[in-house]
Amino acid sequence: MFSKILIANRGEIACRVATTARRLGIKTVAVYSDADAGSKHVASCDEAVHLGGAAAKDSYLVMEKILAAAKATGAQAIHPGYGFLSENEDFADACVKAGVTFIGPPASAITAMGLKSEAKARMEKAKVPLVPGYHGADQSPALLQKEADRIGYPVLIKASAGGGGKGMRMVEKSADFLAALESCKREALNAFADDAVLIEKYLTKPRHVEVQVFADTHGGCVYLFERDCSVQRRHQKVLEEAPAPGMTDARRKAMGEAACAAAKAVGYVGAGTVEFIAEGEQFFFMEMNTRLQVEHPVTEMITGFDLVEWQLRVAAGEKLPATQEQLKIRGHALEARVYAENPEKGFLPSIGTLSHLRFPEHVAFVRDGNVRVDSGVRPGDEITPFYDPMIAKLIVWGEDRAAALARMSDALGSTQIVGLATNVAFLRRLVQSQAFSSADLDTGLIAKNHDALFPAEATPSNAVLALGVAAVLADEARLSAADPWSYREGWRLNQAYVRTLKLAGQDVQITYGRDAHHVFGQTLTWRRDGADFDLMLGALPVRGTVVRERETLHVFHGGVRAELELFDAIAHAGVDDSHAGKLVAPMPGKIVALLAAKGGAVKKGAPLLVMEAMKMEHTITAPSDGTVSEFLFAPGDQVAEGAELLKFTA
Ligand code: ADP
Ligand code: ADP
Ligand code: MG
Repeated sequence: MFSKILIANRGEIACRVATTARRLGIKTVAVYSDADAGSKHVASCDEAVHLGGAAAKDSYLVMEKILAAAKATGAQAIHPGYGFLSENEDFADACVKAGVTFIGPPASAITAMGLKSEAKARMEKAKVPLVPGYHGADQSPALLQKEADRIGYPVLIKASAGGGGKGMRMVEKSADFLAALESCKREALNAFADDAVLIEKYLTKPRHVEVQVFADTHGGCVYLFERDCSVQRRHQKVLEEAPAPGMTDARRKAMGEAACAAAKAVGYVGAGTVEFIAEGEQFFFMEMNTRLQVEHPVTEMITGFDLVEWQLRVAAGEKLPATQEQLKIRGHALEARVYAENPEKGFLPSIGTLSHLRFPEHVAFVRDGNVRVDSGVRPGDEITPFYDPMIAKLIVWGEDRAAALARMSDALGSTQIVGLATNVAFLRRLVQSQAFSSADLDTGLIAKNHDALFPAEATPSNAVLALGVAAVLADEARLSAADPWSYREGWRLNQAYVRTLKLAGQDVQITYGRDAHHVFGQTLTWRRDGADFDLMLGALPVRGTVVRERETLHVFHGGVRAELELFDAIAHAGVDDSHAGKLVAPMPGKIVALLAAKGGAVKKGAPLLVMEAMKMEHTITAPSDGTVSEFLFAPGDQVAEGAELLKFTA
């Protein structure tokens, strides 16, 4: 076994790998960019080497620097995590040449699975079932159109080099094909520097079911069962679970064996995931991800094995730690990806400081408990525009699916994040939704259940308002204790002092008393411990956490977060709007394409410009009918947050 490894990644996965290394007594070397100097992954490792600038191309993607860091620190092997260089065959090759073990498959296997089209051609030979489609080398638009017509609509055009849900276009009818092809190729060229595409029959009610495989250098290959990752937004996973609901033993075996056949066909070694799309009784190969996957913890939860440990053992030349017969499924596991993003605004990523961050009580590893949190951040850390917006993964285990879902609801309910928009409340609604809890799964779940998942904002209950009131009064009392001249004691000798507090657009009357104040016709008393409050509202005990940010009180109560504006929210609405205005860059990023003609008339909602930030594309649309009088940037330009992108005349 190795005595020292370098982790060529950042964030939660770097911390995750370090946890296992430490448990096995292996020393770790972190690498970091300018933006990550003080980050958790650096603190999680024994040593750290600075790479360069914040942008990944100046740091986490610079092979020479990473190899030099391994040399300088005497690391014998490199774990690439996921993303970055993990599926880069040149890097795997360069490691071998530098005499460092790449903890992953051989370069040849990465190459074989790297392009979806070539991978499908290989899988066809290995008799792995494929979605009907075209994955040939001839890329002439006329031929592609003919193939699409032959396959029958709807079809899906996919960038062959694609990943992360990018470079895909669904086409409903023949007449729309060429336009969709062009836009797909443009996105693919920009994101993957390769505009080759393939075409697949578009399945309308599919599930995403993937199989975890593991192979060693002694010819051994096993499957660690499946994960269902059907709950997606923008073709990207949001919730993942294992085992897949409704899976039969026979089908599990068939898929597992197909996945092993796929791995063997390319001489695979290490951890890999074979992704299938399943509809009805059928399943088809989609792609193979030649790395450890984000959602690997659910497999660890149900099998009891540490997959990073397996990776290290296999890379060190050991045999697989278990045979197929020894692998068993125990219970049910669920993972939720907590993202810095705004579900209400089309899942637009957000950036900012995690000014308040609390996770549910959890354990660091699989076998030790039921709730696990994998995160790469600490309170006070920043989510920057340079990397993926994932904040953490919550992983729970239960005896069965219902128990796992209940635990996940609780875990999400006690996750508190203030400082930027997150999807925590959305995830909780998702886990509690009728569709998810009854396992009515397909990749369209979020879109189909839009109304249930995006309910109108509820008016805050008296309990929530009382928490807000208590926090305001407690702050004032603390101020007055520190500075007697600003003493704001409302109590008057002869008559009760009544004050009106504007909270969440409501007038809340507070009647001051000597021993207790009154709100909503009830007495209000509290105990405070930092941000945590224990109230008595009349006879009702109310517990919660209140975090104040300027004029906003973030109240966490009963698993739900409420934002209470301290002043009249309407008076301030304009400020927010100018920031979120459609014609300025919502975050720092790069201009990808201009979609409207200067001076030409467009309808309200028409796409005007596409920019890319945090690995996602954002389309800026026309706020009303009108014309673009000027574009202020050209494709390829880098823009700052809030930069005006174009001049629009209504
Ligand atoms: P897929 O959706 O193809 O199965 P995963 O869901 O496993 O892929 O996500 C892996 C991808 O997520 C990586 O390829 C990478 O682009 C991105 N990613 C997520 N978090 C990070 C991170 N902390 N650092 C780098 N890449 C990340
Ligand atoms: P990526 O490399 O971006 O992960 P995949 O080929 O794995 O691309 O597809 C990502 C997602 O897109 C799938 O999980 C599924 O939701 C959807 N998808 C892919 N192929 C099809 C198809 N033929 N029909 C319907 N949906 C599909
Ligand atoms: Mg995929």
